[in-house]
Amino acid sequence: MTQGKLVIFSAPSGAGKTTIVHYLLSRIPELEFSISATTRECRGNEVNNKDYYFITKEEFLHKVAKHEFVEFEEVYSGTFYGTLKSEIQRIWNEGKHVVFDIDVEGGLRLKKKYGENALAIFVQPPSLEVLIERLSGRGTDSPEKLKERIQKAGKELSYADKFDIILPNNDLKTACEEAEQLVRHFLFGEA
Ligand code: 5GP
Repeated sequence: MTQGKLVIFSAPSGAGKTTIVHYLLSRIPELEFSISATTRECRGNEVNNKDYYFITKEEFLHKVAKHEFVEFEEVYSGTFYGTLKSEIQRIWNEGKHVVFDIDVEGGLRLKKKYGENALAIFVQPPSLEVLIERLSGRGTDSPEKLKERIQKAGKELSYADKFDIILPNNDLKTACEEAEQLVRHFLFGEA
């Protein structure tokens, strides 16, 4: 069985991890994005089977019962997200390394499972206030969903020191460049 490495980006929603992960995918061809399964509704700009595998709650729970997930979570009440074992294997079979955009608890679970083979990076926003501003400005969530994301973010910020690396995101361009250096060092031993 082929085995590559895993690069995990975790952070509260709105900290900029998705942008950083997209930047890395455009810069490092040896990396491939782990497409999670979710029961959340597809947003206008998202593509099924590319951003997520959008599935029903029924399908999701069926996969849970069949032990198809390496980790999964009810990230927000009633909304499930999970990483399929088959997804990691698919990417490794292509001879690539896997990059994850995943919530804090899921990220720590993967790190615990894969140990030295995984690099777990926590993307730290400048402050909770800035995070709230970014989340509110995004305009993709209903007021109730937004409130839930903000509540969860406060808790998630306290998990930072459990990660291999804390990557501050005060300036997105700098954070992207730093992320690339860190990942190249981990994957290829580049200085
Ligand atoms: P969003 O709804 O904004 O796309 O994602 C909500 C949160 O779920 C984000 O923090 C995202 O990183 C996280 N997430 C996405 N996929 C997974 C997954 O497979 N497992 C877990 N535990 N969290 C995930």
